[in-house]
Amino acid sequence: MTQVTKEQVLDALRGVDSGTGGLDVAARGWVQDVVIKDGHVAFALEVPPDLGPKLEPVRAQAEKAVYELPGVLSATVVLTAEKKAAPSPQAKGGGGREQLALPGIKSIVAIASGKGGVGKSTTAANIAVALAKLGKSVALFDADIFGPSMPRMLGLAGKKPHSDGTKVHPLENHGVKVMSIGFMIAEDNPVIWRGPMVMGALEQMLKDVEWGDIDVMVVDMPPGTGDTQLTMSQRVPLAGAVIVSTPQDIALLDARKGLNMFRRVEVPILGMIENMSHYICPSCGHREDIFSTGGAEKTARELETDFLGGIPLDIKIRETSDSGTPIVAADPDSPHAKAYVEIAEKIAAKLADGTVKPAPTISMGA
Ligand code: ADP
Repeated sequence: MTQVTKEQVLDALRGVDSGTGGLDVAARGWVQDVVIKDGHVAFALEVPPDLGPKLEPVRAQAEKAVYELPGVLSATVVLTAEKKAAPSPQAKGGGGREQLALPGIKSIVAIASGKGGVGKSTTAANIAVALAKLGKSVALFDADIFGPSMPRMLGLAGKKPHSDGTKVHPLENHGVKVMSIGFMIAEDNPVIWRGPMVMGALEQMLKDVEWGDIDVMVVDMPPGTGDTQLTMSQRVPLAGAVIVSTPQDIALLDARKGLNMFRRVEVPILGMIENMSHYICPSCGHREDIFSTGGAEKTARELETDFLGGIPLDIKIRETSDSGTPIVAADPDSPHAKAYVEIAEKIAAKLADGTVKPAPTISMGA
């Protein structure tokens, strides 16, 4: 296959009018951060902040122009603008950033972790399916742009959401509507996102989707507590956040960072989940606390947040999500599925009764 070059991309963009007085988007100098990887092209159009919202048609045209180049498998174009700080003390979420309006979505819950590999995505997938089992209309938004795993975990790998020209229709499986950047790019070959592109891409994905009426949207956050996570927590009107942690102390320290980040932007913490909490021997059923268990429960108490439950380390949890049917759907009567459903019930109850407490102030031990 011919490999598309940056010059070809820029050439194609010379045919896209900037909508601002005759110049094309390349001549305007708006094209930034062009990343080309195995036929997947992504870049940002850095536009003047006051024009931002008006330039959506230009963005769409730029995407189309690049997508039509031979050898291009996907084109992702995001609008970014260097925003002037405009602090608004009233804005929920703090930080002086305006929040996205997402009408039709009642509550948005972030599933977060202080670091990668703790089972955040597995937890998000199972909780989403569990909430659907409880009768909620559920959406799952995969914001883990660095390693989108929802298409695989929810049995939608290789599928593409349908677009009617204005809105994208999310894919659905196990009773959950799903949107993920993973539908646009190969999971094993993610685009390397830089700086402002990440948030631009996430916002566009959230806004361009026809979600319909949703009771709970579960957001699988990118792991960690960097700028992307912080911006995401400010821009998305989160009802609350759930922190997933493993029992090891080091991970718990990371979990504290996660809590602290949400506290800074005034997002309530719904509680903590201890994943890979203990090991149950598949042949004899014996329970083994390989990492001294209960760390998350203790930390949750110290940090004045609720402990929502522990999920054991079990190969069935990995196998089921690897094969696209999370254990809550694959084996609903298993103790593990019940553990997820119990956590989902607690989350739903907290969202319903409005007693979600503001996040506590945390002093970092290290
Ligand atoms: P993260 O989103 O935090 O990076 P993942 O959800 O992708 O983590 O999980 C990392 C790996 O651990 C995956 O292979 C997943 O199947 C596995 N895993 C997650 N939770 C469990 C569990 N409770 N028992 C066994 N395997 C698990």
